[in-house]
Amino acid sequence: MHIPRKRFGQHFLRDKLVIQHLVEVIQPDTHQHLVEIGPGYGALTLPILKKSGKIDVVELDRDLVPLLKNRCEGKGIMNIYNADALEFDFSMLRTSLEPLRLIGNLPYNISTPLIFHLLTFAEHIQDMHFMLQKEVVDRMVAKCGDDAYGRLSIMVQYHCATTALFDVPPEAFDPPPKVFSSIVKLVPYKKLPFISQNYSRFSQLVKEAFSHRRKTLRNSLKKLISDDMWKKISIDTHKRPEELSVEEYVYLSNLI
Ligand code: SAH
Repeated sequence: MHIPRKRFGQHFLRDKLVIQHLVEVIQPDTHQHLVEIGPGYGALTLPILKKSGKIDVVELDRDLVPLLKNRCEGKGIMNIYNADALEFDFSMLRTSLEPLRLIGNLPYNISTPLIFHLLTFAEHIQDMHFMLQKEVVDRMVAKCGDDAYGRLSIMVQYHCATTALFDVPPEAFDPPPKVFSSIVKLVPYKKLPFISQNYSRFSQLVKEAFSHRRKTLRNSLKKLISDDMWKKISIDTHKRPEELSVEEYVYLSNLI
């Protein structure tokens, strides 16, 4: 018996209908390269493996590895990487032209840094389907002007088309988390709609802008954009950070 570990964000999926629904939206198939983050006991791994025939999994908890192996034995080819997904080089899984399809009921305690880490591999990824806390999914799909719109929305939407698919109640998990969950689909753009000439500058600008949510852009970006520079920019300096679109952030970062 494995006792769920809080520090690993372990909430195992147990609702069969939710699992079935997830497999239906993922539509795994044999020629695809599926990669699961945090497979746990294999609640999702096993039904996916049955359809795809092979899967790579990245699991941090070494105590779960033998249980997972046991459960998936003889059901297909499974490569287990007993590693921290936050440090994992996903590009090394890309051994053919086939891009990666990432899936996972992610550990919620590391979801934001994990998403930022995964975005660095966007060129190797076909799509991602993740279970996350609903509040985080709301932020990922929020549009300019929405309450949930912020740094995560902009950085994710710079790289990916985002869709919230469906919500999942706490009772679908064992143990149940304190929050509602939701499935998000992220599809990295093959061609970025807006290209930043210097990604780290873009990322820095977005970070600075949202570090003082209540300030106007002129005030929060004082270090990066002088009053003189603002005069040449066709953006209202009295706007607040949540009133600028991804396109406008890219445009601004390309000017400085
Ligand atoms: N997919 C399973 C388990 C989800 S719980 C299910 O739905 O039942 C989250 C899983 O992520 C756990 O198995 C946990 O051990 C694993 N995990 C936590 N932190 C991790 C990390 N940094 N890297 C990889 N896996 C991690």
